[in-house]
Amino acid sequence: MTQLNLPTMFPIHSRHVAVIGAGAAGLVAAREIRREGHKVVVLEKNDQIGGTWIYTDRVESDPLGLDPKRPVIHSSIYGSLRTNLPRELMGFKDYPFVSRNDGSGDPRRFPGHTEVLKYLKEFAREFGIEEMVRFETEVVNVGLMDNNKWKVRSKKINNKDSFDDIYDAVVVCNGHYSQPRIAEIPGIDSWPGKQIHSHNYRTPEHYRDQVIVLIGSSASAVDICRDIAGVAREVHVASRSVADGTYEKQPGYDNMWLHSMIEIALKDGTVVFRNGNMVLADVILHCTGYKYHFPFLDTSGYVTVDDNRVGPLYKHVFPPGLAPWLSFVGLPWKVIPFPMCELQSKWIAGALSGRILLPSQEEMMEDTKAFYSTLEASGIPKRYTHNLSDYQFDYDNWLAGQCGCEGVEEWRILMYLAASSSRRTRPETYRDEWEDDHLILQAQEDFNKYPP
Ligand code: FAD
Repeated sequence: MTQLNLPTMFPIHSRHVAVIGAGAAGLVAAREIRREGHKVVVLEKNDQIGGTWIYTDRVESDPLGLDPKRPVIHSSIYGSLRTNLPRELMGFKDYPFVSRNDGSGDPRRFPGHTEVLKYLKEFAREFGIEEMVRFETEVVNVGLMDNNKWKVRSKKINNKDSFDDIYDAVVVCNGHYSQPRIAEIPGIDSWPGKQIHSHNYRTPEHYRDQVIVLIGSSASAVDICRDIAGVAREVHVASRSVADGTYEKQPGYDNMWLHSMIEIALKDGTVVFRNGNMVLADVILHCTGYKYHFPFLDTSGYVTVDDNRVGPLYKHVFPPGLAPWLSFVGLPWKVIPFPMCELQSKWIAGALSGRILLPSQEEMMEDTKAFYSTLEASGIPKRYTHNLSDYQFDYDNWLAGQCGCEGVEEWRILMYLAASSSRRTRPETYRDEWEDDHLILQAQEDFNKYPP
């Protein structure tokens, strides 16, 4: 009988693999795929690694990010951003995100963005990842050739040189927080105020003494409304996840209110909410999320993005008909991203070498269709296809099972639940006050397996 998943069979086949992007997903994909014995090239349009964690004060020419011709700024990080997960959760499994206590960084449990970038750079240095990266190289086209290899066309930033390279496999790690999605608001075309998407929000100064309507209730919305309330005259948060009659003054603020969604925007500058209130607003700030976007990917229509579902994808990673030669790392959201990307990458690495066997194309497609049917039957819209909030740990454990490695640690699950609950109930203070010290101790014990 054929034995699968045994390290003794490794490597069965070594492949030439292109990884697109050198953010957290691309870095760990490159590490895992090379570890398996494949030859890896990482193509990165920026001049450094880190992806979304590279803060810049530059913003795009179109503040809503709708103009397809605009030069894209990749990162959506704002100046005051601190992580919304405790650092113990965030790190890769075998390279914990611990504070080095050498005075060189930000030792806080929920550190600022610079500390995350520093961690990713240290990770890349530790595992010699940078030597695989071609910087300032933007992938402009990925297409399948007649011989089932992939032609990857890339161009150098700042000059017109372009290159075609041939690979056995392509791993897409281009991130999904750069292409804004905006709210549909009746009357908005004749509303005279300024609109901006949170992708182009950096610091609150521009909003001094203004009346702001901020749409959204995600982690960024929760942070940014508080950032702005410190300088703005009024902040009115409109959320589609509250009842239509909602109108609440926000505790601790005398200039911030929570409303139900916007009913209409009028040409005299008034914004009317579904709760019947209206305000004369200067700015509408859309904290309304992002779209998956793969402008370079040409699969002759096999992989599409439909209402923010990237599909068909088996377990959010492999398009069945193109597996394992095309894969995606990091698509799921409402997850702990770094360790999930690590497991997805291990799975891809093993599938590429043949060490891990994937189901047949038909079985993967059947599974994928069954998954979509379950979502539909539960009334879950397509745009939530990659939202794993209810089952991220089952998903991680399933991946770990495929790879023959340990599943998610108990402390990680409990700590995630504790952090999520305190973020909901204490948005002002959860980053500096917590009650799960016992879980931190358990995490640290675990981390001792991986000395710095
Ligand atoms: P990215 O980091 O976006 O990297 C993608 C890379 O691909 C970039 O370097 C980009 O330049 C490159 N690229 C894109 N297109 C091309 C191309 N055509 N050619 C070549 N290169 C290309 N996660 C947490 O764990 N904790 C947090 O507290 C947290 N807070 C967040 C706050 C905000 C505001 C946002 C937006 C995200 C946050 N996240 C957080 C999620 C975060 O995005 C992930 O943790 C992770 O960094 C995603 O990594 P990635 O590699 O998938 O994407």
